[in-house]
Amino acid sequence: MAIGLKAPGYYIQGEGELDKLGKYVKKLGTTFLVLLSPNNKKRIGDRIAASLESADKKVVFSEFGGKCTKQAIEDAMTVAKDNGCDVIVGVGGGTALDTSKAVATNLGGLPSVIIPTIASNDAPCSSVAVIYNDEGVVIKALMMHRNPDVVLVDTGIIAQAPKHYLVSGMGDALSTYFEARACYRSGAKTMSRGKCSMTAMALSELCYKTLLKDSLKALEAVEQHVVTPELEAVVEACVYLSGVGFEDGGLAAAHAVNDGFAYVPQAHGMSHGEKVAFGLLVQLQLEQAPQKEWDTVLQYIKSVGLPSCLADMGITDVKEEELRQVAAAATVPTQFTKNVRADITADEVYAAIMAADAAGRA
Ligand SMILES: [Zn+2]
Repeated sequence: MAIGLKAPGYYIQGEGELDKLGKYVKKLGTTFLVLLSPNNKKRIGDRIAASLESADKKVVFSEFGGKCTKQAIEDAMTVAKDNGCDVIVGVGGGTALDTSKAVATNLGGLPSVIIPTIASNDAPCSSVAVIYNDEGVVIKALMMHRNPDVVLVDTGIIAQAPKHYLVSGMGDALSTYFEARACYRSGAKTMSRGKCSMTAMALSELCYKTLLKDSLKALEAVEQHVVTPELEAVVEACVYLSGVGFEDGGLAAAHAVNDGFAYVPQAHGMSHGEKVAFGLLVQLQLEQAPQKEWDTVLQYIKSVGLPSCLADMGITDVKEEELRQVAAAATVPTQFTKNVRADITADEVYAAIMAADAAGRA
């Protein structure tokens, strides 16, 4: 199998960069649909409009309701078509960004601009949009024709967001290296439709090392709402390195177990990154990782405030049947657990969940 590498066309990150948006998107089109929540419109809508208008672009706002559903995508498509928009801009967290990606794709592959306002997961740089039904269950992962043309991260805006968003982003980014490594070892096919490359391994390893080095200082910066070199480094790790890392490096058991936790109502308050962090502990159990590696990961998880056991995940009433469902869901043929080892069974995953919980509590 060949290697495959995908990445956004242009990635910009820095404090105050939002005000230069017009300059960065100058050649993409003339009429920009900007999809964002009412709250984000109030916070930064004027800055976005001013920057685009200074570059002689027409701006059409479309209100995002909070869910990436078929209906939300169709509604935004209607606004885009009615106004002759030729560029789609998504502003906000994962669901707003994914909705905008789906709109751009469904309108025949219009240029796509992504502006994350929180660094809570690795969605911004990827070419994937996850679509849900009204009950919040995943119905489809839509692949875009290509990755976003421009991803612009204004670290000044990220620094204003509540700390727990960045903690979630750290959880999602923490697993990137280990999942890529599993794919590299097993020769699995990645989201970029090739095997994991040396490049993806290097990026995801850098992601892991950056988290270990700078996370605590980055969290201090977010608490003070200031931008520091450590915050810049961790945001780059969570948004760029983790985003390109997961798409080109591949996913494995950590994300599969995260998906499985949809079957445990007690864990429904947990963010994607928090579930992925615990999923990583499960994956390390499955891989029988060296003690030193386990200790480093567990210590990191505890130090930044990610869940290290089932109780931390909100699961105080542990029901074997529910956790066996998690394990079963993580080992269906379409799931990524097979990228660790093709013959992993649900029983093995269940045992690994219980072992991770016990070791995480210790
Ligand atoms: Zn993820």
